[in-house]
Amino acid sequence: MSRFIHFLRRQIDADLELHSQARQDEETGNATHRCLIGPLRGFRECELKTRLLTQHHHCGTGQGPCDVLGTSYPPEDERGCPTLALLGLPYTDRPGYAHRWRP
Ligand SMILES: [Zn+2]
Repeated sequence: MSRFIHFLRRQIDADLELHSQARQDEETGNATHRCLIGPLRGFRECELKTRLLTQHHHCGTGQGPCDVLGTSYPPEDERGCPTLALLGLPYTDRPGYAHRWRP
């Protein structure tokens, strides 16, 4: 698993944890603020990102759908393909994100 793929999985897992905590806070009446995007929307967005990550997991290795289409990045580029690079965009301010991963 490339470092970038591993980074993306950790960020989605971190988001899921935050949404779980927010839902629990809402259910127990301990929510300190209301977010326009509620936990359920957050869970759906995490599912979308997970599905895209799964579908493009092998891009850049010669085995992914973007390799077949000829749109993947070369193996030395950790991003794999433009879809994976875009998946990292919400996480550019998180620790561990490398500037060269920007789409
Ligand atoms: Zn791809």
